[in-house]
Amino acid sequence: MAVKRDYYEILGVNRNASETEIKANYRKLAMKYHPDRNPGDKAAEDKFKEAAEAYEVLQDPQKRSVYDQYGHQGLEGTGFSGFNGFEDIFSSFGDIFEDFFGFSTGRRSKGRGQKGADLRHDIKLSFMEAAFGKDTEINVEKMETCPECKGTACEAGTQPETCQHCGGSGQISRSQGFFTVRTSCPYCRGRGQSVKHPCSYCRGAGKVRISKKVNVKIPAGVDGGSRLRLTGEGEGGSHGGPPGDLYVFIHVEPHDFFERDGTDVICQIPVSFVQAALGSEIKIPTLKGEKVLEIPKGTQPGDVLRFEGEGIPSLRNGSRGDQIIQVAVKTPTNLSKKQEALLKEFAKLEESKLTTKLKNMFKSGSESVAR
Ligand SMILES: [Zn+2]
Ligand SMILES: [Zn+2]
Repeated sequence: MAVKRDYYEILGVNRNASETEIKANYRKLAMKYHPDRNPGDKAAEDKFKEAAEAYEVLQDPQKRSVYDQYGHQGLEGTGFSGFNGFEDIFSSFGDIFEDFFGFSTGRRSKGRGQKGADLRHDIKLSFMEAAFGKDTEINVEKMETCPECKGTACEAGTQPETCQHCGGSGQISRSQGFFTVRTSCPYCRGRGQSVKHPCSYCRGAGKVRISKKVNVKIPAGVDGGSRLRLTGEGEGGSHGGPPGDLYVFIHVEPHDFFERDGTDVICQIPVSFVQAALGSEIKIPTLKGEKVLEIPKGTQPGDVLRFEGEGIPSLRNGSRGDQIIQVAVKTPTNLSKKQEALLKEFAKLEESKLTTKLKNMFKSGSESVAR
């Protein structure tokens, strides 16, 4: 490849594409041109390498900003020169390929690599945000593999040297009486290598503290106590090991009107005893706005009405629960003279209805006794 193509063009994204978009497009290209799917195809191989190089730069905020300002030449100045072969690509991305393809590439960096630590981040959501989901960005402070030395801890152009104390084995032998005891080499901490020229960027630590913005896609229907796992967003691994994961713990604030029971939402609606007795239509809030609720004639206190499918989507299959409406019948207070008079009238009628009923009961009862 004599002239390098623009990295954004390669991945088919625009210049202010988010990390998620970049990752998604790279994933598509990597799937398409993956060597396991295109054995012996040179053109696919080139495309695969080209996409990997573009992704390697654009997924890294530091490299991306250098590239944005100074282009390909700017990156050469930092010692980045793309990849030499597949080994390079696979070892650089670690388990991103497992992530993408759901199988192991079998080409992961071997040796003494150690997985980075997992991280925890707590997030507080409103009731509605949990019900509808939310795309948000969180700031994660973490130790990440040094972008300059890729965690080798060596200054660019230098290599770790074989530890002189253990001859590269990482272990030293000591005689103790009859026994020879082998212990981890204290000079190289068991790595078998020592760094003569430490990376100036990370001062030989192989890691740097960074603050990274991470996009979190919170799915509709999460509940308090849910936990999301963002693979590879934890701390960087050491000596070529894969990064840890980031766990986002969800907390949900209560709502003034709605309560949640799994995928159902529960609410209480006050209605007057007249509305309950005569039946009526009232507008009540649902998660998605107001809706007319029909109160049937003769509704009793504590009766439960239901809006089917107006609840919260299930995380498993997306099917919505119901809105459950508990009817609270209110006794009227502060009656006007006229209302009171009408109610007394009403009471008289009720009384005569009741007396007739009792009389009938008594009559039928005495008849049965008489027999
Ligand atoms: Zn470094
Ligand atoms: Zn050693």
